[in-house]
Amino acid sequence: MKTIGHLINGEIVNDKERCQDVFNPATGKAEKTVALASKKTVEQAILAAESAFPGWKNTSPIKRARVMFRFKELLEQNADKICQLIGEEHGKISHDAAGELQRGIENVEFACCAPELLKGEHSKNVGPNIDAWSEFQPLGVVAGITPFNFPAMVPMWMFPLAIVCGNTFILKPSERDPSSTLYIAQLLKEAGLPDGVMNVVNGDKEAVDVLLADQRIKAVSFVGSTPIAEYIYSTASANGKRCQALGGAKNHAIVMPDADMDNAVNQLLGAAFGSSGERCMALSVAVTVGDDAGNALVAKMREAMKGLSVGEYTNAKNDFGPVITQVHKDKVNGFIESAKRQGADIVVDGRNPEVAGFEDGFFVGATLIDKVSPDMDSYKAEIFGPVLQVIRVETMQEAMKLIDEHEYGNGTCIFTRDGEAARYFSDNIQVGMVGINVPLPVPVSYHSFGGWKRSLFGDLHAYGPDGVRFYTKRKTVTQRWPSSGVREGISFSFPS
Ligand code: NAD
Repeated sequence: MKTIGHLINGEIVNDKERCQDVFNPATGKAEKTVALASKKTVEQAILAAESAFPGWKNTSPIKRARVMFRFKELLEQNADKICQLIGEEHGKISHDAAGELQRGIENVEFACCAPELLKGEHSKNVGPNIDAWSEFQPLGVVAGITPFNFPAMVPMWMFPLAIVCGNTFILKPSERDPSSTLYIAQLLKEAGLPDGVMNVVNGDKEAVDVLLADQRIKAVSFVGSTPIAEYIYSTASANGKRCQALGGAKNHAIVMPDADMDNAVNQLLGAAFGSSGERCMALSVAVTVGDDAGNALVAKMREAMKGLSVGEYTNAKNDFGPVITQVHKDKVNGFIESAKRQGADIVVDGRNPEVAGFEDGFFVGATLIDKVSPDMDSYKAEIFGPVLQVIRVETMQEAMKLIDEHEYGNGTCIFTRDGEAARYFSDNIQVGMVGINVPLPVPVSYHSFGGWKRSLFGDLHAYGPDGVRFYTKRKTVTQRWPSSGVREGISFSFPS
């Protein structure tokens, strides 16, 4: 069986002390194994990144950007291979994987702007013969720890920008679908990136804990579930590192009585069930305002869901694939059962769908649950599966209160034709990313991505302008070149 190794100092390293199975979620079979890095292996990667830093830091930003231009071309040329690797280990259908890759490439395109982004700020004559400027210097060796659900895109939220800002990088991808991430990192070498600037260590908590403790790591970007995000943030911060840790979500869509209901249904289908609901921006709760909206939405969804197909990644006619593991499948099914037990109405039950030829796959079909209430376990938790729950309320204020009171605040959306209502909603809702008739308001690469409340620990959002600030430290220089012969007198008062 093939073992997936690490990328350290430009070479694939196979540390076989411990290994873990990597499943094809469509067949349910372990088809590869991944090496789980020991402390020694992670330290090898840190040493490589530390050694590469001085040379890379002093490489001009335009030359760093040129590597990213070549990298972008290589990503496009090898898109089919990357999508295949995503499909084999994540289960995502090829059209969905292509979308993920495209959003990742957009972050590379943004990183190509590094010379412009790193220009700094300059002020002339802040005092007599005195000029001042702020420059943005790289931090050193920085680390990224990423989740299974976007093995190509989420790492590209991090390393392209970190690297063009002059840092060297260590990535710890998800051990559940590591191949596409490793392959992408290898393309960087082909694009001309010096060895040691980008390193990948596969592994689990053991590898992560080394990255969190080692004083040579200056910053950590994390994306994953909230309990781990909280652990990463508190540990990295306690160890004096800069940290941004993006966590889980429960994204609500408000469906107003005046909404274009057919459009809302189409948007909700993709946003709730696309990628089997395994997206941190998946819309998993529809809050309908007024009984007419609730009845119309549920009736139209039930009808539309008859046309959905769940299946294997190579068949582009499938709408979505399996969930990531058998354990996760059981968890999703368990939430459907608990909603039923706690009094909700299972309108469409997607448990145990028939997928011919893939009987052992980790499939869950699209599920619609009506009459959910906020005290139910299925509402409080992030299910991370193809399950849309409907909560019925009487007013928009009630809908907004529900969203504000939820522990997560990643994304949200309102479906309406009323501009005043939409503006009030976006002004006041306590959520970091808001859509107005846009179901998955994932910011483009030149904005930044991040939730509020327990969906993000730290101050700066991921990628875009916040990413540049996260991966650099500001230095402000105040400089005087007195005219010849001018001597300053002694002063004990504060300079003004
Ligand atoms: P996860 O938290 O289980 O794993 C994420 C990373 O943390 C992996 O690399 C994993 O190896 C590592 N990890 C796991 N347990 C650890 C531990 N005890 N100590 C140290 N490291 C540990 O998340 P996942 O299941 O891979 O991904 C799904 C989650 O990620 C969902 O909650 C989803 O909402 C979230 N997510 C959030 C965003 C966002 O932008 N907010 C984006 C994508 C995914």
